[in-house]
Amino acid sequence: MSWAEALDAEKKRLIFGNEDSTGFASAYDKKRTVHAGSKGQVLAPEEAAKAWMGACSQTSDVNKLVYVNVPFCQTRCLYCGFFKNLAKADMMEAFSSALADEIKSSAQLPMFSSGSINAVYIGGGTPGALSAEQISLMLETIKERLPLANDCEFTFETRTYQLTDEKIDACLNAGVNRFSLGVQSFDTKARRSIGRVDDGDTVMRMIEKLKSLNEAAVSIDLMFGLPYQSESDFIEDILTADRLGVDGMALYQLNVFDDGKLMEKIKEEKLPPPPTTAEQAVYFIKAHAVMQRLGYMQPSMAHWVRDTRDRSLYNRMTKQGNMMHAFGAGAGGRTQQHGYFTHMALEPYLGMVKAGRKPIMGMSRNHERQRLHNLISSQIDCGYLRGDMVDAEADFRLTEVFEPLISSWEKRKLVERFGTTVKLTPQGQFWYVNMAQSLIDVTELYFNSGYTPTAAKVAAQN
Ligand code: SF4
Repeated sequence: MSWAEALDAEKKRLIFGNEDSTGFASAYDKKRTVHAGSKGQVLAPEEAAKAWMGACSQTSDVNKLVYVNVPFCQTRCLYCGFFKNLAKADMMEAFSSALADEIKSSAQLPMFSSGSINAVYIGGGTPGALSAEQISLMLETIKERLPLANDCEFTFETRTYQLTDEKIDACLNAGVNRFSLGVQSFDTKARRSIGRVDDGDTVMRMIEKLKSLNEAAVSIDLMFGLPYQSESDFIEDILTADRLGVDGMALYQLNVFDDGKLMEKIKEEKLPPPPTTAEQAVYFIKAHAVMQRLGYMQPSMAHWVRDTRDRSLYNRMTKQGNMMHAFGAGAGGRTQQHGYFTHMALEPYLGMVKAGRKPIMGMSRNHERQRLHNLISSQIDCGYLRGDMVDAEADFRLTEVFEPLISSWEKRKLVERFGTTVKLTPQGQFWYVNMAQSLIDVTELYFNSGYTPTAAKVAAQN
């Protein structure tokens, strides 16, 4: 019996989607949002301490990334799952000085001092919530202490709110060469409905300012499916961004989660329900056509770039599973053999750094097929799957195992085949996370008889 025949109806529908669907909008029932199956084995604290010491003592010249998590925001946006702390001056001061200490002490260890770092991403939270002096301390410490490659992409993520000239100067003086701005929408009513503060005009003026400095790529995030946002409002957002000359745009779907603040407001009838997933599919496909008409390139399924100035290197290299040094509170990193994350809560983070220890909260050993999972999901994130590479990594004709699923997608026009390469059509691109997850599920069903695919976390909108 093949893996497909062994599935019950519910699991089959999770992996294949709705095989009777007549349009792509109902190809799957719900958007899946996390990659289950890739979780490695969690290490006990003593084992984690040993694994960390072992990794730090080894030099390596593999590709490397740096991620810094700044866990503060001036206000809380309703849709967000990343909010941690309100920006309080004394806590941000304590955090900044601990962060500099954490980077300095790590930088002396072989794993951090060897090789070159290809991309740095300062995210959060909102790094722009820090003061200009705190931003300077963080960025200059990174620049001075870590071996950044000459062509290192150095991204500072921020919202436009309270982004002063002094903060911009602090970024540029320290070598930031890419700003990632959370815009979400230029429409004041839509953006304020989800908790953003600035009006649309203020956001546009900020983008004009950053573009006129001509010192760094400017990439923005836009969202579709916001409350009060019509399809034509979303297309207008894209056209506005294009007129402003942004170097890149990431187009994200708003996902509403059952336990989130946004759902709370919708239930209280303080906000209208957002468009359903099927309606969002229409926003997506129209936006896709507009981006193609405007001549943008698509380095990944959610990201579009005007030319090569916005390299989006960090995003790409993260999905490929490259080594990642994590700093700050609530940051996730990777050594060559392990994944780890730092303490999310400020107290233990500050306490451990003060005691001269890496503030690691948890560590896990890579899944035995981590490289294969990374290859599959990073290729699908770029809109294709190369059969020859998958089979070579699996050391086995895994694509033959995938065949029932790929054929089903092909029939429903979610993919096209070019020899042994499968490419996602624009319709398939709307479901790329489900498709990557389905391939990983199939891989695990084949190799691991005890594996059960789960819906884990899915969007709550209909
Ligand atoms: S600023 Fe960013 S991290 Fe903070 S709450 Fe808003 S979306 Fe979330």
